[in-house]
Amino acid sequence: MKMSNLTKQPRRQPVPFSRLAVVGLFLAFSLPSASAATWTVRAQPVRLLNGAPVLFQVKVPSRLDSLSGTWLGHHLDFSFDPSTRTWFALAGVSLETAPGKYTLELAGRRSAAKASINFTRQFTVARAIYPKIKVELTVERKFTEPTPEQLQQIKEGQQIKRDYLNRVTPDRQWAGSFTAPAVAPISDVFGSQRIFNGKAQSPHLGLDFRVPAGTPVVAMNSGTVLLARPLYFEGNFVVIDHGQGLLTLYLHLSEFKVKEGDVVQRGDVIGLSGGTGRATGPHLHVAVRWQGVNLDPARLMQLTLP
Ligand SMILES: [Zn+2]
Repeated sequence: MKMSNLTKQPRRQPVPFSRLAVVGLFLAFSLPSASAATWTVRAQPVRLLNGAPVLFQVKVPSRLDSLSGTWLGHHLDFSFDPSTRTWFALAGVSLETAPGKYTLELAGRRSAAKASINFTRQFTVARAIYPKIKVELTVERKFTEPTPEQLQQIKEGQQIKRDYLNRVTPDRQWAGSFTAPAVAPISDVFGSQRIFNGKAQSPHLGLDFRVPAGTPVVAMNSGTVLLARPLYFEGNFVVIDHGQGLLTLYLHLSEFKVKEGDVVQRGDVIGLSGGTGRATGPHLHVAVRWQGVNLDPARLMQLTLP
């Protein structure tokens, strides 16, 4: 008797539960505004995490000429994918964002109408678990105790980064999923804690690939080369602007294969790997910035993008 009860229960349970979930979702989408009754707003991945990118996808029953949004204080311009009749925008959550509920505000426009159609949807941001492995790395003294001359070079580098790395160019150049910049094992992940010469540094804001010097490094997606120049810490440094505030950064290169202003396609070789700048040896450090926010490159590559 007991046995049969146990085997029956798990089969029966999912039916009422899934029905409730469907009703719940329907209510969540349809309650906020009567004029936007059948908007559906989805996030990929479904679970939002601090430090991770997110693709917002919006389906609207009526025709819109444009759709914009606000998310965590950032402006979003949505693109329309005619094959699925879905509006989409790539966004992110900063590493510092506390777990909790945050609102995505949407505003759809039709050129004929004066007023916009508004819709809001709440998303829960959960806390990501990043490795707390403290690695003892020894780097040259010039990086931890720089001379006045070196300090000047560091200052210049900081100014260049302030000038370039928060840029938001309106047109989207990326299309489709982001690809790995090199075929190689990962040697350090995003968000891990590091210690240099016994001093705690900020978390690792990129993804490291274990590549020997001279390995071709490719563009993770299509875009325009924003920077291709040597900087003190970054070494030979390439930054690609994919539009809408999304940048990919490639550090410590031994050689440049592009120059500033070049238009590149996903998979184009942009340089050769190396160990220039503050690096303990040859490796490729890549980073992703979205409107000035550092995001996990590994999680960006996992997204299936239109
Ligand atoms: Zn790194």
